[in-house]
Amino acid sequence: MKIILLGSPGAGKGTLAGEVQKLLHVPHISTGDLFREHVQKGTPIGKEVKRIMEGGDLVPDELTIRMVQDRLTQEDAKTGFLFDGFPRTVPQAEALSKITDIDYVLHLLCPREILVRRLTSRRYCPSCGRIYNVISKPPKVDNVCDADGTPLQIRKDDNPESVETRLKIYNESTAPLIQWYEDRGLLREVDASESPDKGLQFIRSTLSTSI
Ligand code: AMP
Repeated sequence: MKIILLGSPGAGKGTLAGEVQKLLHVPHISTGDLFREHVQKGTPIGKEVKRIMEGGDLVPDELTIRMVQDRLTQEDAKTGFLFDGFPRTVPQAEALSKITDIDYVLHLLCPREILVRRLTSRRYCPSCGRIYNVISKPPKVDNVCDADGTPLQIRKDDNPESVETRLKIYNESTAPLIQWYEDRGLLREVDASESPDKGLQFIRSTLSTSI
């Protein structure tokens, strides 16, 4: 199963991906996570993208496509994958269509007020990657990861200015993909305004004929 999760920053792609991954047993490939790993390790790619990411801008298509192409050569991605945050532009979608076919594009719909609230109240565990939200999904102990006790952090690009930039860029560069995939008969809409459970339920029934 080859699936793309398409949706604005804050729509809950990462959270939902974690759940769908358990259901479909395919790797969750988040280009944001791959770039953050490069930044953390201080690789040449990491050095190139650090500032771009912190400001909430998009990494150039060529670099992003190369990184994804490389990731898709790994054994675990041979039978399927779940893309989260890729593609984000029409040229990326075009490049992907030349590399592999896609079964579904799940478009996560969520009103803007909820997106902004989710992004600015998001916290993550730098050790295991678990995602929390101080309003809707707080950790048991204030600011500490439930799984491993690591102090939680705020992503650098979850500050109000970068959030504005990211939402604007989504509308300008990524939203055209909705029509692009609709035209190819691949788009399925998912209500992501509530908890990921609702999205997951929807995915179960939408995909029930294929799994
Ligand atoms: P995310 O974790 O998906 O919100 O991604 C974090 C940041 O990584 C984005 O704001 C971009 O700077 C960069 N990024 C992730 N995926 C892509 C992509 N497909 N194309 C360009 N930049 C990306």
